[in-house]
Parts: sequence; C-alpha cells; structure tokens
Amino acid sequence: MALTDSHGREITYLRLSVTDRCDFRCVYCMAEDMTFLPRAEVLNSDELVALAEAFVALGVRKIRLTGGEPLVRPDLVEVVTRLAALPGLDDLALTSNGARLAGQASALREAGLQRLNISLDSLQPQRFRELTRTGRLDDVLAGIAAARAAGFRRIKLNSVILRGRNDDEILDLVDFARREGLDLAFIEEMPLGRISEHDRALTLMPSSEVLATIASRHALLPSLENSGGPARYYRMADSDSRIGVISPHSNNFCASCNRVRVTASGRLLLCLGHEEGTDLRALLRGRPGDREALMAAIRAALPAKPERHQFTLDEPPQVVRFMNMTGG
Ligand code: SAM
Ligand code: SF4
Repeated sequence: MALTDSHGREITYLRLSVTDRCDFRCVYCMAEDMTFLPRAEVLNSDELVALAEAFVALGVRKIRLTGGEPLVRPDLVEVVTRLAALPGLDDLALTSNGARLAGQASALREAGLQRLNISLDSLQPQRFRELTRTGRLDDVLAGIAAARAAGFRRIKLNSVILRGRNDDEILDLVDFARREGLDLAFIEEMPLGRISEHDRALTLMPSSEVLATIASRHALLPSLENSGGPARYYRMADSDSRIGVISPHSNNFCASCNRVRVTASGRLLLCLGHEEGTDLRALLRGRPGDREALMAAIRAALPAKPERHQFTLDEPPQVVRFMNMTGG
C-alpha cells in the first residue's frame, strides 16, 4: 500500500544516511570542529537493511545512500550488496565526496550500486582545499575516473556555488562535465546548522545567476527530463551532459516532494527544512525483526510531513542540524 502524506504526496524515495562522519569538513556543511555520534548510536548493517525492507514494502522504489561520507563506513560494500538484492527496489544510488572512490568504485559497482553522485565545488587544488578544509582535488579526480572506469553511467556532479568563493568557476565546471561526459547540478547553499566560516546571507548565489552565467557561453534548452526531484534540468545542443539547478531558496519544489530521510542514528526526518521526525532506532533495537511494527511507525509518522520548507537566512538558523547529520 502506497505511503502517502496528508498533502497527497506519494513517498517513493528514501535518502538513507549510513554515517554522520566524514573525511572532509566542507565550509557550508560543517563546523571546523565537529563532534560525531558514538559508533553505537549509528545504525548497523542489519538495522539499515531492516529499515530499507520496511520502506520498500511501503512502496519506496529508490534509495540513495548518503551521509556524512558513505565511503568512510567500513562495511559499505556489504550494505550495498544486501540492499541491491532487495526485490522491489528499482534504483540504488549513492552520494559521495569522491575522495575514496578510486579504491572502492569497482567493488561498489559489483555489489550492485546503480548510480553515483559526486560532489565537486572547485577545480583549483588550493581552493578545493579551502572549501573542503581537508580534501585533495587529485583524490576526487581519481575517484571520478575510477567511477567511469568501473562502468557507472550518467554520473552526476553536485556543486554548491558560493558567491565570492567559487562563482568564477561555473563555466569551468560546466566544461569539465562536458569533457568528461558527466551531468552536473548546481545547488544553492541551504542554512542547515550554525557555521561561522562565512555569512550565508552574503554568499547565497541564486540559481538564476548560475544559469545566466552558463547561458553566456552555452545555449540552454529546458529539458523535460525530471527525476521527480528538486533539480530543473537543461540540455546543450552540442553535448550529452545535462545541467541542473537545485534552488531550495529561489524556487520552492516542495509540492512534488516524494522523499523522506533517515539519519545515521535512525531518525526519520520528513523534511530537510524542519525538525519533525520519529526515532526508528528505538523500535529497531527494541523489537528486532518486527517489520510490521516498523512499517506501522513509518506510516504513523507520515501525516506530520510539512507542506514545505521555508529557508530564511536569519541567525541563528531555524534548523540546527548540520547537513552531515541530515543525510544530504
Ligand atoms: N559526503 C557526501 C558528499 O559530499 O557528496 C554526501 C553527503 S553531503 C551532505 C551531500 C550533498 O549535500 C553534497 O553535494 C554537499 O555539497 C551538499 N551540501 C552539504 N551542505 C549543504 C548546504 N548547507 N547547502 C547545500 N548543499 C549542501
Ligand atoms: Fe563531508 Fe559531504 Fe559534508 Fe563535505 S558535504 S563535509 S564531503 S558530508
């Protein structure tokens, strides 16, 4: 039976966070000094699989693994193998910062992972380091190459553009995507978690400006392809790459929202921009193996899914969760 919220939206997509930890400290995502969850609080592989089974039984057809950085989780390949074997799951995807993909891309592909998103905000090594605080551009470029060599198709890059920080690289990122045969989505920064590294009100770069910059060099044709998600896609006549924009500030996409999230600690979050949620870990641990109880709890939580997010740039931010907690 379909999972439907009180606004008539059918939920078919789960974003499942497998860890809150990360080897990067991206300036828009985290504070420099982060405290991560004790390991015992993070769902183990059996719990992740039990959750996925319950969601699939409720009509979810797509799961994206995220975090934190999924590839820092030692048993990730096992998790992927088990999820890929679930009957009824049509699409298993993962979002990664790419730094560890060179060593893991083929194992993930062989385990049954179907699609990959890789985050890349700069093609300049020094700037890449500044934006991620710890990352090495070369590792990510090697990760992208390994993912292509492993046979992943339609790999999508995600770039968060910050005014004054990397907005001069929009065309370079587009050229890179065209050259490498990748899709590319530009994301507006969201006010999730309190950061002091920059003032989000000053760095916000609306998608309209990103599109105008690209259109100064490439004619963009609106594409009818839509993944049911928040991205609006464009095509270029002379390239197979799709260019997308995800505009949580400037273009509210909540009316077509088909997704929920589960954090690394098993909290069901109904909307990225709200704190409403339900602790599923207590149930997973209190009544292991009781799929019916889990399905009932998920169903019972759904009516509280908010109609829409309303991001403001007020301080302190309304949502205190950092993106790595939420599962981006
Ligand atoms: N570590 C992986 C990665 O970076 O791809 C997966 C998790 S990360 C939280 C998922 C996506 O969220 C990344 O593309 C990242 O750039 C984006 N992100 C993180 N914090 C954000 C924020 N405050 N606003 C917009 N996007 C954000
Ligand atoms: Fe880590 Fe991804 Fe957040 Fe960057 S955006 S700090 S890579 S979780």
